[in-house]
Amino acid sequence: MSQAPVIFWFRQDLRLADNPGLCAAIDAGQVIPVYILDDVNSKPAMGSASRWWLHHSLSSLNASLGNKLNFYKGDAHHILLKLVQQNNVKGVYWNRCYEPWRMQRDTQIKEALKKELSVEAHSFNGSLLWEPWQIAKKDETPYKVFTPYYRKGCLNAVPPREPLAKPPLDEASLHCLLSSSETLNSLALEPQIKWDDMLAPHWEIGETGANNRLHAFLNQSLQHYKSGRDQPALLDTSRLSAPLHFGEVSPNTVWYSALQTGAAIGDEKNLDTFLSEIGWREFSYYLLYHNPEITWKNLQSKFDAFPWKKESTSPELKAWQQGRTGYPIVDAGMRELWQTGYMHNRVRMIVGSFLVKNLLHHWHLGEAWFWDTLVDADLASNSASWQWIAGCGADAAPYFRIFNPVLQGEKFDAQGEYIRTYIPELSALPNKYIHKPWEAPVDVLNSANIELGQHYPEPIVELKASRQRALDALASTKEP
Ligand SMILES: Cc1cc2nc3c(=O)[nH]c(=O)nc-3n(C[C@H](O)[C@H](O)[C@H](O)COP(=O)(O)OP(=O)(O)OC[C@H]3O[C@@H](n4cnc5c(N)ncnc54)[C@H](O)[C@@H]3O)c2cc1C
Repeated sequence: MSQAPVIFWFRQDLRLADNPGLCAAIDAGQVIPVYILDDVNSKPAMGSASRWWLHHSLSSLNASLGNKLNFYKGDAHHILLKLVQQNNVKGVYWNRCYEPWRMQRDTQIKEALKKELSVEAHSFNGSLLWEPWQIAKKDETPYKVFTPYYRKGCLNAVPPREPLAKPPLDEASLHCLLSSSETLNSLALEPQIKWDDMLAPHWEIGETGANNRLHAFLNQSLQHYKSGRDQPALLDTSRLSAPLHFGEVSPNTVWYSALQTGAAIGDEKNLDTFLSEIGWREFSYYLLYHNPEITWKNLQSKFDAFPWKKESTSPELKAWQQGRTGYPIVDAGMRELWQTGYMHNRVRMIVGSFLVKNLLHHWHLGEAWFWDTLVDADLASNSASWQWIAGCGADAAPYFRIFNPVLQGEKFDAQGEYIRTYIPELSALPNKYIHKPWEAPVDVLNSANIELGQHYPEPIVELKASRQRALDALASTKEP
């Protein structure tokens, strides 16, 4: 082993187990573990709820590294080159990221390290099961539709790498450059809004928490995932999206642990559905890699002329953000988001459709709100999902398929449990009216202590008329 130190640069891989870049760095020499909050290059800037999660995730990682994590804030290019020069570093190691701004920055850093300092950067795959350039159609072009991408492309490719064990770490293998006064708190990472009181009770952040979550899900919910995953009151999904985004657990660990549990319980159907959701995450990264413009540009250009409202100050947008549209399933979802930093997937689809179709607002406005308030905000999944819901994506739900929030609520939250959790003011309403309080007779509203417009809003749009308005807008949108 060489005596000169190497840098391991933590990014979206805040874990020790199954971390290929970290394992390689430890094999190469004494490691300086580094995290850089790069607000200079990031586009878009990290959202508020994500910063809250990151703060806790870094604290947890630092503890598992024996308080030897070196935190910095600023331009990663500048900081890394300076660290390499000042510490006679012989190599820099990291796991790859796929956001366009990160890929561009990392390429420049790699070149500068080599050209200016003759130091090699070594990058690894620590975040995806299949590299985006690895999967292609027979004619070598990228897939545009999920099912063939996943079933023909991924499942017939080389199987994902099996997870690696935690590398051996002792006192001597890690090197801290910071003084004891330079703590994580000095990065002023925490956002302006104090999320702790609201969000903290819902999450166990960090690598241990992620593994606890994974095993609780596999033991308790995998066997009814296929039907349970659509019912927001059941808590039958894994809630691993934030741990996967921050890399507290790798997709490889999730994939192989699920395969193992699925085989043990002999359950093909539920396992297959769960693995295909992990496949959707892969597909989002695939789309982002092959279409970096997905974050801001409609993948179907005919939607460029669509008459979506774009004002970020509109009263309807405010009502949507605050969970005050008068449609209980929409409002429950938006309040779940605000109170927990998370929203169930079925409800994300309902609130998304409501915003871009019934309220006719641009998907960018929904995407931006989710970006700021989701703890799992992820450039690939968020952009691809908003394009999907808006109908303008590669493999999107057709625009004319407009979710009816009342029918969706009645189907997926039949007993109104989800509504009652997040809209306590409606809790005494009978199930018959819980998804459409405006249809309840006055005596029913009275005995449930509800005055519409006072305790809970009247609907801000009428469903039938707003649906027709959306369809008319679509009809007026011509191919360029
Ligand atoms: C409008 C909209 C915006 C979204 N924004 C995000 C986002 O910013 N970040 C994010 O991680 N997911 C996003 N999703 C996808 C999905 O809603 C979440 O991944 C899922 O709800 C997370 O819950 P879970 O971990 O319990 O999922 P599970 O059902 O347990 O699924 C397991 C894992 O598969 C992945 N996954 C599941 N569904 C999808 C999907 N449709 N697309 C991509 N990956 C998926 C996630 O990593 C998830 O953790 C969005 C969906 C919609 C409709």
